[in-house]
Amino acid sequence: MAFSISRRGFLSVAALTAGASVVSSCASAKDSKGTEGSVTQDAGDKVDHSKVSGHIVVLSTGGTIASTADASGALVPTVSGPDLVEPLYDSFDKNKLTMEVKEIAQLDSSAMTLEDTDNIVRHVREALTREDVDGVIVTHGTDSMEESAIAVDTFIDGEKPVVLTGAMRPFDDPAPDGPANLALAVETVTNPQNKGAFIAFGGTVLPARGAYKSHTEHADGFSTNGGERPKGLDFKPMKDVRVDIIAAYPGAPGDLIEASVKTGAQGLVIEGMGAGNIGSSLADAAIKAAATIPVVLSTRVDAGPVSGVYGGAGGGATLGEKGIISSGTLRAGQSRILVAAAVATGTEAKALFDAP
Ligand code: ASP
Repeated sequence: MAFSISRRGFLSVAALTAGASVVSSCASAKDSKGTEGSVTQDAGDKVDHSKVSGHIVVLSTGGTIASTADASGALVPTVSGPDLVEPLYDSFDKNKLTMEVKEIAQLDSSAMTLEDTDNIVRHVREALTREDVDGVIVTHGTDSMEESAIAVDTFIDGEKPVVLTGAMRPFDDPAPDGPANLALAVETVTNPQNKGAFIAFGGTVLPARGAYKSHTEHADGFSTNGGERPKGLDFKPMKDVRVDIIAAYPGAPGDLIEASVKTGAQGLVIEGMGAGNIGSSLADAAIKAAATIPVVLSTRVDAGPVSGVYGGAGGGATLGEKGIISSGTLRAGQSRILVAAAVATGTEAKALFDAP
């Protein structure tokens, strides 16, 4: 079996669907560009769909995978869950693979709220408790797939697989990518060695934690920075929790943080610069906020960890000493979900991040 260095840092589909263990595959925590510890397998280890078996629940939520163009050409989610899944039976055997489809939303994922996220998590958990269910697929828009993926990952025990998938091209596109992504999701979810939450997309399967949308158009538009999954939490709804993301930039005023806290934020994620650094005005306000609510520092940089090596008023090292939590490998979107989960469950936020 030939392996090669992956550009984007993940273990390939074929390995995950042909039997490799997933837990050890969060290989790219150090470098999502794939220069350390990441592998991609050469194409060729095809899964024989006619042999795939199991009983899975498919939860459809909308997104491009379920979208068609309206009269003006704009894409809107219109395709029902059953219509989305039915074509899978052209290649999978109905007598071996059974799918129970539930349409739980019909949304563009950029329009989702934490209430929608709660709804997804609830349905996933409900399905996983059933002995007859081997795993769950969630069809989802790509814009906020990383958020729902880490929410699911955080609130499950990780014994069975949950696979999120979607598409970059709509259902009615002459060459849609949804069907191949769905087939990949089925391959992944029916492999009992795969435990926990994943994103299956564009020929690649990524552990949910650390994954992020990295291209606005490419069919293989997800990458990962990796990360270690902590023990799952008991579910508590996040819908009434407000966690804001504040973007740092040179000269960003601390007022941004003050306004956020004043208007009700119960947690903050600061999207810092570089390895996790911010200017002094924002730093003063962040340190003040961290005395009462969890404040996490992430980065706007695509790849690499938040390392907290710089001193000075807003340097990552200084902020760490003053109680600001490093997001480790996670970017702002997933960090926000973890802070919301921490607030909702009364968990110490730091315990959900894998930074030192
Ligand atoms: N805007 C869409 C969504 O997130 C994009 C997609 O699905 O690719 O629902």
